[in-house]
Amino acid sequence: MTGPYVLWRHARLVTLCGDAPWGLVERGALLARGAGIAWVGPEVDLPAGLPIEAEHDLGGALVTPGLVDCHTHLVYGGRRADEFELRLQGASYEQIARAGGGIRSTVAATRAASDDALVDAALHRARVLVAGGVTTLEIKSGYGLSLHDEERCLAAARRVGTMLGIAVRTTFLGAHALPPEFDGRADDYITAVCEWMPQLHAHGLIDAVDAFCDRIAFTPAQTRRVFDAARRLSIPVKLHAEQLSDQGGAALAASYGALSCDHLEHLSDAGIAAMARAGTVAVLLPGAFHFLRETKLPPVQALRDAGVAIAIATDHNPGSSPALSLPLMIHMACTLFRLTPEEALRGATVNGARALRLSDRGTLAAGQRADFAVWDLEHGNELAYWFGHDACRRVVAAGKEVWR
Ligand SMILES: [Zn+2]
Repeated sequence: MTGPYVLWRHARLVTLCGDAPWGLVERGALLARGAGIAWVGPEVDLPAGLPIEAEHDLGGALVTPGLVDCHTHLVYGGRRADEFELRLQGASYEQIARAGGGIRSTVAATRAASDDALVDAALHRARVLVAGGVTTLEIKSGYGLSLHDEERCLAAARRVGTMLGIAVRTTFLGAHALPPEFDGRADDYITAVCEWMPQLHAHGLIDAVDAFCDRIAFTPAQTRRVFDAARRLSIPVKLHAEQLSDQGGAALAASYGALSCDHLEHLSDAGIAAMARAGTVAVLLPGAFHFLRETKLPPVQALRDAGVAIAIATDHNPGSSPALSLPLMIHMACTLFRLTPEEALRGATVNGARALRLSDRGTLAAGQRADFAVWDLEHGNELAYWFGHDACRRVVAAGKEVWR
């Protein structure tokens, strides 16, 4: 950390550190230096004599770690509002997918979009997430489904992060859906995905590899081939697992030391045990659960009992979760999945970071990245209480104000 200090004072700090509920520090102050946090604590204990370049009085506002949205599909062309209407008239997600709608319509729109159009659309959506407190954003590919188009999507995701001054982690999700040119040849498509991976990795575009293992997507055997290719390149893996059915995907992913398994409504006891052993994070996605009007709940209490860390994300995508507010997901994780407000906030901060293998954010402590959000709220539990309320006032990422 270099440069002079910037002081953020007169704040109620939700540090998520230590033994106190929420890690709350009343009348707190935070000293940033460069991109990092140099000091956090009660204002009365602030070290004296430091060269403070700028000082911000937050007027008693609540400050939390910057939110981490660890599961999004933010880069795509088109929209799927028409399909939403069809589903309201009774068509199921699976019926639409089998009829060539769903993901495939987004793939066609994504391939047809220029690089700039992809960036512009994703940038617009990312700005909304940032205005809700997000400072780290994971973005998956998976709507290009060719080497050229997957590369364009991953590069677009990286550009969004640079343009907004936030951290973007990119995940290669070639094994999202079968593109039309591979109809009836899923194994051949998986071979292609595995062949693209080294090139995308060499271009610095892959932080993790993901796959969609379900009865409307890829089998466990195909998922295994994708994970083997990732392992050869030492890239960590994640999995869309047990969303619509129990395929044993979570246990499979855990056997590869997966960073996370995501969705998990149909997760079995064996899957939970395997995730606990591997330290795999359970990423719950209440937006998709809500939007698809699912009824089977993820096994939250069993995950707790097993000591599996729980993260919360928007799963932003055009087909099953067009959500652009992580605070709303915190609320829905509580109302739909019965997480406590503090669990839900940890899920959208420190555990989200863990699902991305990032240990330098998600809490407010010296040595962490200076990522935080300022809220017009009095208590951390209000983040879960209000919904449809834009309480975020300022967002700081790596020491720089990125939204106000
Ligand atoms: Zn997803």
